[in-house]
Amino acid sequence: MKRPHIVILGAGYGGLMTATRLQKKLGTDEVDITLVNKNDYHYETTWLHEASAGTLHHDKVRYDIQPLLHKRKITFVQDTVIRVNAKTKEVLLERNTLTYDYLVVALGGEPETFGIQGLNEFAFSITNVQTARKIYQHLNYEFSKFTEDGPTSKDLLTIVVGGGGFTGIEFLGELTNKIPHLCKEHDVNPAQVRVICVEASPTILPGFDPELVSYAVEVLQSKGVEFKTGTAIKQCTEDGITIAQGEQEAFIPSKIVIWAAGVRGNSIIDASEFESVRGKIKVDGYLRSPEYNDIFVIGDCSLVFAKDSERPYPPTAQIAMQQGEHVANTLQQLIREKENLTPFVFDNKGTVCSLGHKDAIGLVYGKKLKGKPASIMKKIIDNRSLFLIGGIPLVFKKGKFF
Ligand code: FAD
Ligand code: NAD
Repeated sequence: MKRPHIVILGAGYGGLMTATRLQKKLGTDEVDITLVNKNDYHYETTWLHEASAGTLHHDKVRYDIQPLLHKRKITFVQDTVIRVNAKTKEVLLERNTLTYDYLVVALGGEPETFGIQGLNEFAFSITNVQTARKIYQHLNYEFSKFTEDGPTSKDLLTIVVGGGGFTGIEFLGELTNKIPHLCKEHDVNPAQVRVICVEASPTILPGFDPELVSYAVEVLQSKGVEFKTGTAIKQCTEDGITIAQGEQEAFIPSKIVIWAAGVRGNSIIDASEFESVRGKIKVDGYLRSPEYNDIFVIGDCSLVFAKDSERPYPPTAQIAMQQGEHVANTLQQLIREKENLTPFVFDNKGTVCSLGHKDAIGLVYGKKLKGKPASIMKKIIDNRSLFLIGGIPLVFKKGKFF
């Protein structure tokens, strides 16, 4: 009898968690599993702000996928997904077409620009290893160009970070640690570097604990960050950004604009003509597409609502990994024809936001942390995600040890 074929799209947190759990749960005679990913490596999206600022080498944030897979259980295909045709149970890849019995969509998110003019063309985003490398290279280029223009220049080297959410704040933490080194390397006077964070809400990290937010503001201000809260980016050009505060508009000249003001789902979801909201599928209680119960959607491509809440959970690695594990359990039950599937329940352990290598703020199991203890907790979390996917060998290979 033909074995059922499970196809997993994306080897990020959700996809790799599904794959590594499935290979433990099912035998080679029970199922065929294919994992598809654009690259032959996984990257820690949650460390990309470090690679972007150049405080961590980009090779440190990625690792090869194949050594983590049992070759007899999982076939790895390095290819790019173009579209899913749910009606014929096919996945169209750039170089191939796959058919499936069960599909797990874990393709991650993309930057949300809300249609703001010029962002796609002129701003940078912290999205994957390549965009992170581009940011760091661009920083170096602009610093060296600034020196070339001469130390007597009256201009300022202005770096704008759009969005004071967790990504923007974590990047600012790394950036402000790196700037003294960039200045030294490129003979730039630190007094001529200006770092601005533009945040549309009245506060950065909207919704997070106000005392911890104040701590983050103080730390970053002490390192030279100017906050423009209640201010939205309206346009980006080659020469800078237009910001608006109420009716008042202003232009800030800048050649370095990092757009970190939100994520949407994946354009593959739109291309596949699923019912979706900004590239995300509102999944049922078992993380399935409401239209096709052989398709599971997890991570940044999924919308999951807490019981009795109108707001979806924010897209995080934490929830993506829990979803991956849950889908692996569900698939094991389905393959073994067991009934009574268990609905997914998110176990929110909290959030820790780094402010550079040695500082952070966090709420973990309801407990407030700041400074060194929060920073240690952040590294424990980073190592834990390596451990959950690749065990102790991966922690030793890629882990962060204080
Ligand atoms: P991803 O981990 O993004 O993986 C998607 C995978 O799919 C990638 O391997 C990608 O290459 C592949 N892929 C995409 N498109 C295609 C295609 N067309 N064909 C083939 N392959 C494709 N969350 C936390 O919980 N804690 C944190 O501390 C945290 N820090 C963050 C810091 C930063 C700078 C950023 C940007 C995000 C952070 N997040 C954090 C959010 C978290 O990274 C995401 O929610 C998480 O990565 C989503 O996991 P995922 O499995 O859905 O997608
Ligand atoms: P976000 O949506 O959490 O924050 C984006 C911020 O940009 C918001 O504060 C928003 O008000 C602001 N904004 C939107 N439009 C703007 C505009 N035109 N001008 C200026 N500001 C504007 O997005 P994010 O920070 O990229 O985070 C994405 C997801 O990843 C979130 O779910 C977040 O929780 C998660 N994340 C978690 C961590 C962590 O746990 N340490 C770190 C990074 C990201």
